[in-house]
Amino acid sequence: MKHCADCRHFRKAPYQAKHEGCYHPDNMVGKQKDDYLDEQQLPGDHERINARGDCAQFEPLASQPSLLRRIFSLGA
Ligand code: SF4
Repeated sequence: MKHCADCRHFRKAPYQAKHEGCYHPDNMVGKQKDDYLDEQQLPGDHERINARGDCAQFEPLASQPSLLRRIFSLGA
């Protein structure tokens, strides 16, 4: 079962995006090329697209390195 909350294309309102939903380019309702127009973008309805939990565009979030790895990378 794939959950949108674990997918790198999902953005949550209000901190990650103005509109909550799926920002995969194939699923978006309204796309903008330029970064400064990001607020005008309209995401796809993630609940409808991934209703069965088998979304083909699912990509897992990048895992964060462990605390020890981050501490030692500071000294490198
Ligand atoms: S609908 Fe698919 S691509 Fe979009 S956020 Fe959910 S799992 Fe990811």
